[in-house]
Amino acid sequence: MRKLPIRTCVACRQGKPKNQMLRVVRTPQGEVIVDRTGKCAGRGAYVCDDPECIAKCAKRKLLDKAFGVALSDETYAEIQRQYEQKS
Ligand SMILES: [Zn+2]
Repeated sequence: MRKLPIRTCVACRQGKPKNQMLRVVRTPQGEVIVDRTGKCAGRGAYVCDDPECIAKCAKRKLLDKAFGVALSDETYAEIQRQYEQKS
């Protein structure tokens, strides 16, 4: 069996196989989206597929560092909404 690549959660810093993580992407257009396919173009950051990590990520604005830009509260709210909608 092939070993899955390990990704580190930006919230809890734990490494987990990629397929257990949620990928958040900042697209070349500057949009930040929850990427369920893992194939969207852009800079990606990984968060556990866990409401606590998502919430922590939003509360502490952890994606700002991952993407190197300051994201608005609305963007974080949108990420949380997308997460809740599709899980
Ligand atoms: Zn986590």
